[in-house]
Amino acid sequence: MSGTLYLVATPIGNLKDISQRAIDTLHGVDLIACEDTRHTAKLLNAYRISKKLISYHEHNEASRSEELIERLSNGESVALVSDAGTPAISDPGFRLVQKAREAGINIIPIPGPVAFVNAAIVSGLAVDQLFFGGFLPSKKGERRKYLETVSSIPATLVFYESPHRLGKSLVDCADILRNRNAAVVRELTKIHEEVISGTLKGLTDRFSAGNPKGEIVLVIGENNESEAQSATGSVRDRVKMLESEGMDRKAALKTAAKEFGLSRSEAYRQLMSEST
Ligand code: SAM
Repeated sequence: MSGTLYLVATPIGNLKDISQRAIDTLHGVDLIACEDTRHTAKLLNAYRISKKLISYHEHNEASRSEELIERLSNGESVALVSDAGTPAISDPGFRLVQKAREAGINIIPIPGPVAFVNAAIVSGLAVDQLFFGGFLPSKKGERRKYLETVSSIPATLVFYESPHRLGKSLVDCADILRNRNAAVVRELTKIHEEVISGTLKGLTDRFSAGNPKGEIVLVIGENNESEAQSATGSVRDRVKMLESEGMDRKAALKTAAKEFGLSRSEAYRQLMSEST
């Protein structure tokens, strides 16, 4: 009979944020697969858990998955943990879970902290509909394309971001998502925990002088209706104004459509009829 793969959530900073069930599971398994054995050893020491650790990270994922699946198939039980929070959320782990499913292995999640959920709930932005976009792409072109793709999602958007890219990403966010409300959530559950709220433009200005330190989640509110309703004048005038600010026709039309709360085809129709 095959063993069980436990996906065990661990703290995102404060070591006390771990469930009794997670501790019991870590005590009970044969083996713990983790990203960084030294990092996980600190957590295990704090809870006096003495267990064999094996590294599982993006660079050895393929070979380690095979080994772990074999051990699970032979009846061993394995806990998968990541450096912070819930394994497989923007962390290695997804492929192991996929392969374990294919191999018919029993998989059990042990719930606990996850950074993006806590950032969203503390941000003060609406959380009835959330879109988690993982890490924003590090390359500017890819990032801007991705932001274009997600710009029409009717939900609060949540991204992980590295502190040294925050300033540049905020510039792109303000440019593409316009002046939505947003929050930079930093160092959750740690000493320097902080939520900095503002509009995307305000946050861009604030972080233009320098990037913050620590771990960052960027939460961006839905395109607010008041922006759409506050659009006045004609689609044509707005498109002309945006073009005079340097936008090309296609982007200007897309922006105006969003501001007027129109579909792109309807904005185009209005633009053409106003032009004649
Ligand atoms: N698996 C994790 C989870 O459940 O949230 C996320 C791991 S991902 C590799 C690491 C990213 O999560 C960081 O770059 C940061 O964006 C976010 N993060 C992790 N811990 C955080 C914390 N204490 N405060 C704010 N963001 C955090």
